This record gives sequence, C-alpha cells and structure tokens, in this order.
Amino acid sequence: MSRKSGKYTFIPVLLTFVILGLVLAATLFFVSDIPTNGFAVNGDPAFDHSKENEFDFVESEGKNGVKYYVITRNSTQSTTAQPEDNGGQSSTSTPTVAATHSVNNSTTETTSSSSAEPAATTRTFKKAEEKTAYLTFDDGPSINTEKLLDVLDEYGVKATFFVIYHKNMEDKYKAIAERGHTIALHSYTHTYSKIYRTEKGYYQDLNKIHDYVEKLTGVDSKIIRFPGGSSNTVSRKYNKTIMKKLKKSVTQNGYVYHDWNIDSTDASGINRDPDLLVENVKAGLEKKKFVVDILMHDTGKSKTTTVEALPRIIEAVQAEGYKIEPLTIDCEPIQHNW
Ligand code: ZN
Repeated sequence: MSRKSGKYTFIPVLLTFVILGLVLAATLFFVSDIPTNGFAVNGDPAFDHSKENEFDFVESEGKNGVKYYVITRNSTQSTTAQPEDNGGQSSTSTPTVAATHSVNNSTTETTSSSSAEPAATTRTFKKAEEKTAYLTFDDGPSINTEKLLDVLDEYGVKATFFVIYHKNMEDKYKAIAERGHTIALHSYTHTYSKIYRTEKGYYQDLNKIHDYVEKLTGVDSKIIRFPGGSSNTVSRKYNKTIMKKLKKSVTQNGYVYHDWNIDSTDASGINRDPDLLVENVKAGLEKKKFVVDILMHDTGKSKTTTVEALPRIIEAVQAEGYKIEPLTIDCEPIQHNW
C-alpha cells in the first residue's frame, strides 16, 4: 500500500518537472531566437576576426528578425590558424557553426585618447601641422584589397595596411606598396597564444612577417600594430605582463607601434551595416581630435561593407577638414594609454 502511494506521488512530481522543463525550453527558444550550437562572433574574444577570410558566411534570419550567420570553413583560403585560434574548430574539418550577429549591436571596442607613452628610444616624431587622418586597414590582404585600393585611387588618397600572412596573396602585398600606400606589419600568424606567450614568440612572428613583406615588396617596414592593439586584454590569458614588456622592447628595437582613436567597428561583426560604419567614424570625428587614426579591416567576404562604406568615410573625413595621409616612420603614433 505504502509502495503504491509512493509511486503515485512520484509520477505527478516527475510530470511537473517535465512540464517546467518544456516551458523553460520554449521560453528560451522564443526569447533568444538565436542558435546556440556555435560561438558568437560579436564580442567573443575566442573568435579571431583576422581569420574570417578562412570562412564562408551565409546570412540567415531568425524568427524575431535577428540576423545571424552560418559559418563554414572554406577549403580554398589560407589555413595558418591553429585549432585554438578559431573557437576550438579544427582547421582540417569543415564544421558548420552558427554565430550570432546582432544587427544593432553597439561598438565593443572603445577608443582612447591620443596621448603617447614616453618613447624609450631617441626617435623623434614630426608633429602634424594640419588636421590629419590616417586610414588604417588591419588583417589583410584579402579579396577586398584591390577594391579598397580602387576606392582610395578614386579619391586620390593613400592609406596604411597592417598586414598578416595569407597564402596566394603575393600580388596583393605588392599592389599595396606599388600603388603608393604604406605596407605596415601586424603579425604573421595573428595567433594570440603564440605571439603573446613569450617575447621570443612575439619576435619570431614579427620577424617572419617583416621578412615576408620585405621579400615581396622591398619595404623594410618598422611600422607595426599589435594584434588586438597595445591595450588588448586577451594577451593576459597567456602572459600577464607581456604587453608592458613588448611596448617597451619594440620601441627599443626601432619599431613604432600604432593604435587607433576612431574605430569603424567593422570587426565587431560580419558585414556590419555600412551606414553604421560611416556613423561611427563621423561620431569619432566629432570629438575634434587634431590627428585621427581610423581602424578598418581588410578581411574579405566578412568585410564587404567596409568597401561599401569607404567612399562615404573618406568624404566625411575630408568634409571635416582633415588631410588624409599614409603613416610614415616619423608620424607621431596614436597609442592607447592603458
Ligand atoms: Zn588584427
């Protein structure tokens, strides 16, 4: 008798849990409306945006009109990435993962003041004599490089490309230099775990991209940008004090590192709305800094809206009275001060 009553108590309790579980699952499904079987690109430091050219992106729309991208690793692009560089995806398999892309996501990277740290070398910089804007493109070259160069030509302005290694792109590195732009160094691998674990690892990588660029273009570049910027926090995961050391030692080794003080935010998602990129640059210009360094990216399929926005970005910069110049070794750098 007592056994029977125990059974009768157990079943309703179980049913209650099942119903509660179903209600919770349904709520999550309708509220989030975003696939959760992948990693989020926006704001997820595990996803290294410099590797975006190794993926194909198919735009999709969720039930509440939230856009997301189905990301598939493509087989034709460079695969310098190690598994840990791309959210744990193996570079040999062809996984399909869903990534969220919130359309109205606000900027995830903050800009900084332009005050520089005291330089450890005797290098002297020329102060800009007029309002000056540097257009900077990170992580290229890519299938967009040519298009970016064409837009820049159309406006008769020169930019700066902080390049990384991509295979089968030799002509694009050359085109950047031959068409009068500054080819500067970002990283060979852009793999945080390699470059920010030890100083030795950082320099091995830097020397590799330096020599690769020099071999292709003849340019002995000493202009660099740290992956993630000098204020990045991802490096702390590998070595807590590495950025402090590197900022000092690159300067002592004759390099000049540049950050930015206007972020177009094109790296904060995949093919962000070009209007938003233009608006972000305009908002940065309104802060009326004398020298601006505008961060954009040259990463192929995921950054086609950067190409789209570039004419309006150039026009906005010029309308504010800025002269657009390429970075040179004696330009006073914009450096994040934290
Ligand atoms: Zn980068």
